[in-house]
Amino acid sequence: MVDSPIVHWFPGHMAKATRMIQEYIKKVDVVIELLDARIPRSSANPVIIELINQKPHIILLNKVDLADPAATKEWTEFLASKGITVLAIDSKSGKGNKALIRAVEQLSKPIIERWLNKGIRSRSIRTIILGIPNVGKSTLINSLAGSAATRTANKAGHTRGQQWVKIGKNMELLDTPGVLWPKLEDQRAAARLAMTGAISDDVYDLENVMKQLLGHLKDNTPEILVERYKLKPEEMENLDDILENIGRRRGCLVSGGIVDLDKARRIVLADYRNAKLGNITLDTVDEEPYYVEE
Ligand code: GDP
Repeated sequence: MVDSPIVHWFPGHMAKATRMIQEYIKKVDVVIELLDARIPRSSANPVIIELINQKPHIILLNKVDLADPAATKEWTEFLASKGITVLAIDSKSGKGNKALIRAVEQLSKPIIERWLNKGIRSRSIRTIILGIPNVGKSTLINSLAGSAATRTANKAGHTRGQQWVKIGKNMELLDTPGVLWPKLEDQRAAARLAMTGAISDDVYDLENVMKQLLGHLKDNTPEILVERYKLKPEEMENLDDILENIGRRRGCLVSGGIVDLDKARRIVLADYRNAKLGNITLDTVDEEPYYVEE
């Protein structure tokens, strides 16, 4: 479990972030929400539904290169079955950019039609990217903006410091992302956010988080542990054994032949984050919801 509170998201910060996002959302026509494809439930913040105020909404499952393709398909179908426009992307490669622009165009058709009917002159469709820290917002903005030559900050009527980046023929993206806060009161989500690197490494309890990650690996993909760390079946009786033996294999020894367990934990964590343990999605579509105790 994540023991320490996350200092960056005390209520004052949340209130300020909420106000900023509400201000941004007023200026846009379509909201793009980025989730981590390995933890689509844990990286979502339900507050967004209230904040976006029924504006058209696209969910992007990002970092799809690190996620299990079968699980990504299930998540995509599950979200689509709820009527949500959803795309799986890898914002580092920029491969999903065209599909994203098409999806924005599709969702904005009724808006443009409304403008036409009301006799309002058509303009570019404005969008914003929202998501929790580290989900890939800046990477996506840079990737989308990379090919866009025009930044329109100096145009009259635009707030100083805010830049709209023209993307494609008819779309403008706010180049400041909206930062949502992670759902830390849900301990299962918090642990998974820690595993994937969404929350800073010095604010959670590594031992506890790694117990959960090793448990997941032991239960779901023991063969990967065997292969990656050359473990023998008798070295995998329980999680303590597994960790200790990984540490021995990797030479994490301190004086007296004792294993530096924290070093071993960090090796496994880095391997998970870099998909050296395969493409593993932690949130499953059919998992029981987590209940926060009253
Ligand atoms: P932000 O805090 O939401 O703006 O996140 P960043 O754009 O700074 O990305 C956080 C980290 O995730 C960086 O190390 C990125 O290189 C990495 N990242 C972003 N998108 C992807 C992706 O699609 N795949 C992978 N493997 N890494 C990504």
